[in-house]
Amino acid sequence: MENKKNDFSEWYNEIIDTAKLSDKRYNIKGMNVWLPYGLKIMHSIDSLLREYSEEHGIEEVSFPVLISREQLEVEFEHVKGFENEIYWVTKGGTTPLDIDLALRPTSEAAMYTMFPLWIRSHTDLPFRVYQIVSVYRYETKHTRSFIRVREIHFYEAHTAHINFEDAEKQMVDYLKIMEKLSTDLCIKFSMNIRPDWDKFPGAMYSVAFDTPMPGNRTLQIGTIHEYGENFAKNYGIKYLDENGEMQYVSQTTFGLSERLIAAIIGIHGDDKGLVLPYKLAPVQVIIVPIPGDNYDEILEYSETIKSKLSGLGVRCQIDNRDYTPGYKFNDWEMKGVPLRLEIGKRELQEQSVTISLRTEKKKTKAKFEEIDHIYDYLNQVNSDIQDKASKFYEDNTVFIDTLDKIKEDKMVMAYWCGSKACSDRIEALSEKTALGNIKDNNSTGPCIVCGKTGKLSAFSRTY
Ligand SMILES: [Zn+2]
Repeated sequence: MENKKNDFSEWYNEIIDTAKLSDKRYNIKGMNVWLPYGLKIMHSIDSLLREYSEEHGIEEVSFPVLISREQLEVEFEHVKGFENEIYWVTKGGTTPLDIDLALRPTSEAAMYTMFPLWIRSHTDLPFRVYQIVSVYRYETKHTRSFIRVREIHFYEAHTAHINFEDAEKQMVDYLKIMEKLSTDLCIKFSMNIRPDWDKFPGAMYSVAFDTPMPGNRTLQIGTIHEYGENFAKNYGIKYLDENGEMQYVSQTTFGLSERLIAAIIGIHGDDKGLVLPYKLAPVQVIIVPIPGDNYDEILEYSETIKSKLSGLGVRCQIDNRDYTPGYKFNDWEMKGVPLRLEIGKRELQEQSVTISLRTEKKKTKAKFEEIDHIYDYLNQVNSDIQDKASKFYEDNTVFIDTLDKIKEDKMVMAYWCGSKACSDRIEALSEKTALGNIKDNNSTGPCIVCGKTGKLSAFSRTY
């Protein structure tokens, strides 16, 4: 395995190949094939998102992939923002279509033509839906598995509210979902209010979740957007209020993608391979029977342990392949499995197991009864991953108060007046772009470029 510190990019590509997460050899660039192991990780994330969305009253829907040009062009800023990235379907068989159809780059235009049919009265609000689908964007930049692809695995929540105030509450609710998810994923991030020139096309404002990654760049792993009445006015999404007056709804969205997997690979992985928080691991516990005398009994005992673990809801497998234990240990470490149980002659005799955590070098012995406490071990792995990820975040974030430090290979926090001119100057000096003002931080200080009063802001090179 390539050394992660020396060449992150190589290491990243190699781990995706070796762990069989996705295959980029499909003959359309940027459209990768999901392999079983990678897909299982993605589906675990999707399951968590489904659970948290439902908990917060957001229900799943599924919209068609095609959007007519007419539908898409209703909101000018929105379509302009995507015009260079849209795939168009222009023929049905050999017949040219009357109207071009776009493969959804995102689903505002699809959903908001239906919302007016469903939302009629204040009693229909708040209205909250999400879907997990593929969206398509014609990327011209260099593509990279899970980070920049042309077919994106996308979670998008869309909500409508009686007024701006209620929509703002939804924005807070999204943060609660993001917090739960990031705890499961053991990822720390910064919340940045994107500058106006970088907000989602058609939004009032956008907040992005940015996390420092190896390779001295940050990765945007998610975004939430406040639309106000902007889309509602264009798509005619209105309701009858309590006084019998027609009002426009206020809207918000929340978007996440397989970039979450990129963050997990990049932040948690090491020179042995993947390191997976247990809620995402396709195999949470691997049992490796050690060959020797009484191998049949060892296997039988392994099966007993497996059914005990399965009964506790743990995803568990026995590795009975014809390889040496050493090979198997390396293989499962590479795949990021949180816990390994070794079972040999001695364990059989003592009715015990030897437990190895993916995050620790030492092994622990546990009695058979103690297997009931397997989640303590799984939580220990998560807490180790969390600690390491927090340290990585701190090590890769720095506050600076003079412009000469801007080139530091980290996500930089500095006061900034908010002007494009000052952010351009920073970009020219360091290739760092303005990620925006830090959300919920009211401290002010002199702009690092011009000296005028500024807000605390983040700057970084980005993936
Ligand atoms: Zn300035």
